[in-house]
Amino acid sequence: MINMILISPPSAGKGTQSKMLSEKFKIPHISTGSILREEINKKTELGTKIKDTIERGILLDDKTIFEILHSRLMKEDCKNGYVLDGFPRTLKQAKLYDEFLKETKENIKYVFYLSIDKNIAYERLKGRLICSNCQATYNELIEEVKPIVNDVCNECGSNLIKRVDDNYEVFIKRFELFLTEIEPLKNYYKEKGILYEIEGSEKVMDTFSKIVQIINCGDLSD
Ligand code: AMP
Repeated sequence: MINMILISPPSAGKGTQSKMLSEKFKIPHISTGSILREEINKKTELGTKIKDTIERGILLDDKTIFEILHSRLMKEDCKNGYVLDGFPRTLKQAKLYDEFLKETKENIKYVFYLSIDKNIAYERLKGRLICSNCQATYNELIEEVKPIVNDVCNECGSNLIKRVDDNYEVFIKRFELFLTEIEPLKNYYKEKGILYEIEGSEKVMDTFSKIVQIINCGDLSD
């Protein structure tokens, strides 16, 4: 079982790294942000309720996001592990998740924290695109993660669009909000001895190699 968490400020590359890790270790990539955007796209009851919160860059309340995640983690494809992208965002979420792990007799061995300077993150954000259908992420300014055909998703051929929360005002708000929540969360995982800080502003493959090296040095047996 390989469970891992990726935490980072907005636009530090956790979506890209999570997807690559998911492919390498053949485990699902679970992005709470993507789940929520999908609900909005499908105009479900939940999607309608949360649309404004997401567009303003505010966090959903801990109980709601945990319920959404919980039902995803109970699916069959998660039984051999998963990459958690964007959860937990608060200490309360981390504790709710720990209760879940206790109940299911699982554990988490790797929490990767990708750090990045705010200005570099904003520069990256300018090129970020997502698939309007399958939520795959791209960056037209980064060679390694550019779409093969401009504005077209490599995976499903749908149009690529900008995220509604990828504008300067919302980015700044999300970045600052992230910094206020992150210290207690980092300390929580540091005390458990499972936090690994990685510089997120390097080349995509360099960051990826560092993460994989840490995992390969560990014991993946349980
Ligand atoms: P992301 O795709 O991770 O950048 O998340 C996009 C948005 O979804 C965030 O700005 C929040 O509004 C919401 N969201 C995603 N994950 C969480 C979470 N763990 N807790 C609360 N809100 C979240």
